[in-house]
Amino acid sequence: MNQTGPIPTVSIYGIPFSKLTMKETVDVLREAVLTKQPHQVITANPIMVMAALENPAMMKVMQSAEMIVPDGTGVVWAANYCGEPVAERVPGFELLHELLRVGENYRWGVYLLGSTPEVIQETAVRLQEQYPAIRIVGYRDGYFGPAEDEQVVASIREVSPDLLFVARGADTQEPWIHKYKDTLQVPVTMGVGGSFDVISGRTKRAPKVFQKLRLEWFYRLLREPSRAGRMLALPKFAIKVMRDKENVTKVR
Ligand code: UDP
Repeated sequence: MNQTGPIPTVSIYGIPFSKLTMKETVDVLREAVLTKQPHQVITANPIMVMAALENPAMMKVMQSAEMIVPDGTGVVWAANYCGEPVAERVPGFELLHELLRVGENYRWGVYLLGSTPEVIQETAVRLQEQYPAIRIVGYRDGYFGPAEDEQVVASIREVSPDLLFVARGADTQEPWIHKYKDTLQVPVTMGVGGSFDVISGRTKRAPKVFQKLRLEWFYRLLREPSRAGRMLALPKFAIKVMRDKENVTKVR
């Protein structure tokens, strides 16, 4: 299918989740690059939905994104449970790779922003090896404060990438992209969280068995127990959706 017109979405507590398949998502984003239309892509999960419900600024960021894809299994479940299913889960990690694969045909320029200096350098090397026709036009670590924003944004603008991947903490990356999207004028900008840590080999993705059972979150919890507090958002989200059932998709 060729996606024309607005992206079909399902609203989950006012957050419009794309109903496109992975392939359709990539098609839309390829078009965004070819027509140079800035798109902020947010790969969202229940933790982010819950955060947005508690934080109006985060809600605004999410509602202003050009595309929100259902990354978390919990979101896919919720849409299905409420009778407005999404096509499939669109994991951010896979979307990043799909975009690089497609981008090779066009020799897209890519900027990598975030994580530590060692991780980002190793990520750049590995992605260049894996996608030789991609042009890595720049990279830098994600440990800078607001005082350096202007300089960071200027150095990205200077090399005008087609894709910008931002890996900073979940609370930081989406508002940062939102704030600078207009100045950056990059066709596709996407927050990728811990992806560079995985690509660089610093952390391992969950073993296949956890992936199959859709328990990647559980594997991460085992490795980083400090995540437990935040993960309470998952059962809270599930209970809330079951309680609100008919109304979940009505909020706009
Ligand atoms: N990170 C960063 N700058 C920061 C905080 C985090 O670049 O100020 C990077 C960190 O190195 C990691 C990624 O952001 O590569 C995701 O970090 P973390 O897993 O702590 O964030 P979460 O997704 O848990 O919020």
